[in-house]
Formats: sequence, C-alpha cells, structure tokens
Amino acid sequence: MDFELSSEDGMAVESLRRCIESQVLPLVSGKLDSAFSPDLAHQLISILADFGLGNGWLPEDGGGLGLPYVTSGLLYMELSRQVPDIAGLLYVSEGAAMKIYNQGSPALKERYLPLFGAGKLIGCGSVTEPGAGSNVRQLRTRAERDGKGWRLNGEKMFISNATVADVLTVLARTGDNEFTIFLVDRSEHKFESREISKLGMNGWSFGSLVFTDTYVDDVFRIGEVGEALSEVMGGFERARAWVAVIATGIAQAALRDAIKYATERDQFGAPIAAHQLVQEQLADMACETEASYLLTMKALAALDRGGRADLPTSMAKAYASEAAVRVASRAIQVHGAYGVTREFPVERHFRNARMLTIPDGTTQINQLIVGRELTGIPAFMGAGGYRNRTGGRK
Ligand SMILES: Cc1cc2nc3c(=O)[nH]c(=O)nc-3n(C[C@H](O)[C@H](O)[C@H](O)COP(=O)(O)OP(=O)(O)OC[C@H]3O[C@@H](n4cnc5c(N)ncnc54)[C@H](O)[C@@H]3O)c2cc1C
Repeated sequence: MDFELSSEDGMAVESLRRCIESQVLPLVSGKLDSAFSPDLAHQLISILADFGLGNGWLPEDGGGLGLPYVTSGLLYMELSRQVPDIAGLLYVSEGAAMKIYNQGSPALKERYLPLFGAGKLIGCGSVTEPGAGSNVRQLRTRAERDGKGWRLNGEKMFISNATVADVLTVLARTGDNEFTIFLVDRSEHKFESREISKLGMNGWSFGSLVFTDTYVDDVFRIGEVGEALSEVMGGFERARAWVAVIATGIAQAALRDAIKYATERDQFGAPIAAHQLVQEQLADMACETEASYLLTMKALAALDRGGRADLPTSMAKAYASEAAVRVASRAIQVHGAYGVTREFPVERHFRNARMLTIPDGTTQINQLIVGRELTGIPAFMGAGGYRNRTGGRK
C-alpha cells in the first residue's frame, strides 16, 4: 500500500492551496459568521470548479471532471483545512448533480448537468423533516399525481444549501411505503426557504424548505416512481466519506495550529511544547488525526473500486467526525484562555467539527451500520425489533 500522494495529486492540492489563499480567502474574510449570500456562494463555486470541486465526481460524459474519489477527497481535505464551510456547500451540491446523472431523464441531464459541470449551479438534497431524521421512512412530505405532474406538500428541515441552491432534489412519499425523488427548480417552482442559525460551519447555508401545493411536471421526476430509496442510500455512502474528509481537514488544521502555538508560547521559562503533558496532548491529537486520515483514504479507495462501501464509509464517518471534536477541543486546551477567544482559530475549528457528528447519519446510526456489517444483524430497532422480525427467536 502506497501512503504517499501521487505527484499529480500533490500538484493539484498545491495549486488549489494557492488559489484558496489568493482568491477565496479574500472573498470570505469577515463573512464566516452567517450563511454566504447566494451571490457569494455562486462566485465561490465558479472559482473552485476549475479544480474539480463541485463538479469532480460528475463523469466527463455528464459535463464534469470525472476525478477519482481519492483525488477529489484530497482536494476537499485541503479546502477543509482552510474553509470547511465551502467544502460543505460543494459536496452537497455535487451529491445533487450525481442524483440527476444517475437517475435523471435525458431532458433533465441535458438541461442541468452542463451547468453543474461549469460551476454555475448549486444543488441540495432534501430528505430530513421535523419528524423524520435518522429514520428516513418516517417522512411525511407527499407528492400526489395531478394531471401531467405532481403536487408536493410538506416541510424539509436542516437542509444544507437551503437558501442558496438553484436546484433541489426532494425525497417525497408517493405511496404507503414508496418514495420518489423530484427536482425542484428555484427559477420555476414555488416554495419557501429559510435559514436556521447554528453552532458552526456558518458560511454553509442550512435551513428549512416548505412546499405548499408546489406543482412540478412529471419531467422533473428523478428515477422510477417508488424506487428512490436505493439511490438515496447510495448517496449517503459517498456523503459519509465526505463528512470524514471534512472532519479530517478540520482536525489537521487544529493540530497544525496547536503545534504552532505550543512552540511560540512560553511558561515556566520554556515554550509550553517543552512540557511533557503538552506533548502528550499533541501526540494524542496527531494519532487521532492520522487514524482519521487513513480510515478516510480507505473509504475513498473503496468508493473508487465501485460497489457498496457501507463498512469503510461508516467507519470513517463515525470515527473521523468524533475524533475531530476531540482534537479541536484539545487544541483549545493547548491554547489556554486564548483558545476560547475569537482571536485564535481553534474555537472555530471546535464549533465546525461539532457540526459533523450529525449529518449523513449520526455517529450512532453509523455505529449501527458498522455493527450490522460485522454481525449481519441490524439493530436499528433494538432487540424488540429483532424479535418481531424473527418471530420471537433470540
Ligand atoms: C450540518 C448538518 C447538515 C445537514 N444537511 C442535511 C441535508 O443536506 N439534507 C438532509 O436531508 N438533512 C440534512 N441534515 C439533517 C441530518 O441528516 C439529520 O439531522 C440526521 O439524520 C439526524 O436526524 P435528527 O436530527 O432528526 O435526529 P434524530 O434522528 O431524532 O436522533 C436524535 C438522537 O437519537 C439517536 N438515535 C436515533 N435513532 C437511533 C437508533 N436507532 N439507535 C441509537 N440512537 C438513535 C441519534 O443518534 C441522535 O443522537 C443535516 C444536519 C446537519 C447537522
């Protein structure tokens, strides 16, 4: 196994770093405490499209760059070391483009994919609702047939890119136990979107969507009626690897900043890095960050091989998102009181990391997926659910 970056990947990451420093950071400076405006979000996506961010997963025949997931992940990790808020914006948008690529009709592909490929469109994926989080099957948003189209009614909650997306993919109930995805276009369909303020990753839009008799023609249906769940679950797998990528980038940034501070700050006549208990914290942070990196790279490599990758993506997501919280928290400890002020970046790393244990399957849901893959027994509904399914057998 080769643990070094290929020279092409190394050069791509280096040129992205230079672009972030020269073009992206000046644009977002002072704008990371609330959601980017639609204009700024579009400016960012257009600059970063040249590097395959926001369009890298899309194959070339869909207008994208068709990057290997490993390469794309390394680019996103670099972005996450600097501005993870933008990584959130872009990976969610790419996920929406991939749903259109995988399941959209030729008309939808022709209309939307070239624009995603050119970095001109922002997408979002709306599944969660006020009463349906971890259990997607509880969702209540309904799509009912009406002539040549569908009428959508319901509310989506905690949706990334809610107020900046041009194109929404919406999972709706089309039967008792049937779910279908629809594309809703902000320029054409009527719905409401509202921003929800949150703890971290604040440049990344996050909000609610309300559909009241929103009418979409059948041409906006993505995939067959009632067959959406496998596409949605496949998308979650990739998204889990991406949350792990972003978490690893944040942990790397927290470690970098803690090492810098520990070598510069003097107490008891020496840099604090010369005190063994400070070094112990740095060593623990480095081990957890490296473990996150290795699990994440393994998940990305599994995605590149194709087929289902539940085990490596859920392991990476559960571990890396929790590890980033611990690493960022220790980075604050190493900084002492300065660490909890806004003068140093580590409080931001901590707030950003804390966002990531929840989306795309909470830590607990990902642990349950790992447990199911290890044992063959799904424990999502606890022992009661298992006994019901197996007719009382223990
Ligand atoms: C930053 C961020 C971005 C997001 N982006 C999107 C998006 O773009 N699109 C979208 O659709 N959604 C998005 N979400 C929503 C996210 O997918 C849900 O928050 C998540 O699935 C959990 O649902 P919930 O918040 O309703 O928690 P719940 O499902 O109510 O869970 C609450 C708690 O109970 C635990 N729990 C639930 N069931 C079990 C079980 N069977 N066993 C053990 N523990 C359990 C959970 O782990 C959690 O700790 C985002 C959330 C965040 C924080």
